[in-house]
Amino acid sequence: MLIVKKFGGSSVANPERIFNVARRCIEDYNAGNDVVVVLSAMGDTTDDLIALAKKINPNPQKREMDMLMSTGEQISVALMSMAMNALGVRSISLNAFQVAMHTTSAYGSARLKRIDSERIRRELDDRKIVLVTGFQGVNKYDDVTTLGRGGSDTTAVAIAAALHADACEIYTDVDGVYTCDPRVVPNARKLKEITYDEMLDLATLGAGVLHNRCVELARKYGVEIVVRSSLNNSEGTIVKEVTKVERMLVSGVALDKDADRISLIGLQNQPGVAFKVFDLLAKANINIDVILQSIGRDETKDISFTLPDDRVDDAVEILNANKERLKFDKLDVEKDIVKLSIVGSGMMSNPGVAAKMFEALYNANINLNMICTSEIRVTVLIDAKDAQRAAQAVHDAFGLED
Ligand code: ASP
Ligand code: MG
Repeated sequence: MLIVKKFGGSSVANPERIFNVARRCIEDYNAGNDVVVVLSAMGDTTDDLIALAKKINPNPQKREMDMLMSTGEQISVALMSMAMNALGVRSISLNAFQVAMHTTSAYGSARLKRIDSERIRRELDDRKIVLVTGFQGVNKYDDVTTLGRGGSDTTAVAIAAALHADACEIYTDVDGVYTCDPRVVPNARKLKEITYDEMLDLATLGAGVLHNRCVELARKYGVEIVVRSSLNNSEGTIVKEVTKVERMLVSGVALDKDADRISLIGLQNQPGVAFKVFDLLAKANINIDVILQSIGRDETKDISFTLPDDRVDDAVEILNANKERLKFDKLDVEKDIVKLSIVGSGMMSNPGVAAKMFEALYNANINLNMICTSEIRVTVLIDAKDAQRAAQAVHDAFGLED
């Protein structure tokens, strides 16, 4: 078997954990498998490097940021190879350039285009464990790029796809995907399996287990991902196309605390208004999620939408700068809100799922500010102070507890 294993920063945060990972990989290797290991930077290294850069230059060039940030992963693979060597097993570390992992040019948010598998194959055939830097790539100028925060998951899936690996295991500090974040809902249950689509919705909605680009890639190439803990041997969660266990109506509840809401009051009730607003925001690369437009009254209407809190200031600036053209009376920003979602492919064929969620929230006396649905999810916007209570109430209503 060819196994790709990816370990996150907390799994390699210190020498003891590095040896722990080395031993787990060696177990698979000794069982006769080919093993490729993708690593993230140790602990908080990437954050520390970013902080360091800001001390030197508050506005560093993106190219140099990638040059800097990519060093974290290189430290991890080199140390891992030394650990394996100390344990008497042959291994080799490779960075993105050596592999070669080709990406688009966009520094800081490059996308993988193609991975040469030759060098990795050659080293595997030589019976070495191959250690590859996550997160980095090389663009057409032969410059180092990075894939965006959390990008090592994506590296692992891309390598698994390129090598037609038999398994792709992603190890983190949680031991799988839960029906809700166990810090929010203590009796949340670990899922055995989840579909790509559900996982994508949960990842985008802030479940925070896997990078969503990695899930998109896995779906595209049909790579089954196993999410497991590096600290224990429990089974983990399989992310795949179709799950075979009896479908629950709802697979999970996600809470996104990083969402804020902007409302534009008194826009003109005319064609093209929504286009103008969202085109301006799209051009600034601001991702909008839930949108609500009121029914026009007299000559005016209102539009509210949610966006990530780190882009609110940019959005407000852009909208105010275009106030004349957009012709609105007032702009409101609401920061104390959270997005609560239920996700599940089971709801596609079952009416009444949304009603059940609303009933649970009504019984808990929680007010809904906005509602938005898709085929496999229902999202509501609620006050931040109600977040925990709401998540628990909904989780209970769907019987998701352990
Ligand atoms: N080290 C990078 C980060 O912290 C990539 C990763 O860990 O996946 O974002
Ligand atoms: Mg991560």
